[in-house]
Amino acid sequence: MKTMIRLFVAAAFAVSAPALAQDRAEPRWSLAIHGGAGTLDPEKITPERRAAYEASLQNALDAGKAILASGGSAMDAVKAAIIPLEDDPLFNAGRGAVFTWEGRNELDASIMDGRDRSAGAVTGVTSIKNPILLADKVRTDSPHVFLMGEGAEEFASQVQLETASPEWFATEPRRESLERMKADALSSIDVDHKFGTVGAVALDMDGNLAAGTSTGGMTGKRWGRIGDAPVIGAGTYADNRSCAVSATGWGEFFIRVGVAKEICSRLRLSNADQPHVAADEVMAEVKELGGDGGVIVVTPKGEALYSFNTTGMYRGRATSEGVNEVAIFAAE
Ligand code: ASP
Repeated sequence: MKTMIRLFVAAAFAVSAPALAQDRAEPRWSLAIHGGAGTLDPEKITPERRAAYEASLQNALDAGKAILASGGSAMDAVKAAIIPLEDDPLFNAGRGAVFTWEGRNELDASIMDGRDRSAGAVTGVTSIKNPILLADKVRTDSPHVFLMGEGAEEFASQVQLETASPEWFATEPRRESLERMKADALSSIDVDHKFGTVGAVALDMDGNLAAGTSTGGMTGKRWGRIGDAPVIGAGTYADNRSCAVSATGWGEFFIRVGVAKEICSRLRLSNADQPHVAADEVMAEVKELGGDGGVIVVTPKGEALYSFNTTGMYRGRATSEGVNEVAIFAAE
């Protein structure tokens, strides 16, 4: 009897209201953030350090939430969430970026607007305080999508973005990682155990999606190495028809799989009702090739999810339905 009543109610609703209005009766917003994935062991983190990560993630989540909850855009929320993470030396983006083999901090970032798939990205910049803002300026104020190195810095000075000195980005723990890597002939994975890239994905109350990612790359990177974070389609993608994705992990594998776009394409073409399945399948492909890391995904319906094949990912999510959480380890 109960089932019949439910069926009846659903049918009556379908007749009296168009499907879209039914789906979006209450305007929804949704936000997910990450601060990198990797080999994270709850036994090896002090309570103070854990609290510091959680507070920083919550602070970034709050900045993005405040915009979405008051009717602001997904693009603004993504930038608002990423900026404090770029400014926090705990994460490998902006201040606290890892060092290149030559001992520099070279920053990458990208951002994409799901409304029109406009995108901006920069790689190898060394003096821009918040690279996510430069990526967005590339999107809005240049005819291009992707700028590198000196040219990107020249463009930044034309659009008058805030700069910072090399000392702002250079932090002792990251320098020690480079020194250890060189002294013990370690790989960047051995030396870091985790990726500290930051990212955010959002759905706003107008139904628009956005994604952004910012990173220092991988410790000891050389020869102008570029990872997935600034590569549209690999580390970042947003399309109102499917989803918004930001990735963190071993960038070479994420580029080869085209992770962010691959998840969105699967959702658009066949798997719209099972975003977690699409994300898990694509992350399984990364694993099969030998890579690791994770993604955050937000869908047009407001689902906010994570998928990672590591023992942890610094992450958080919040939605208009009352979800608010930050987490680090896989079991949480
Ligand atoms: N994906 C980044 C890169 O390969 C690293 C990270 O996620 O921290 O450059």
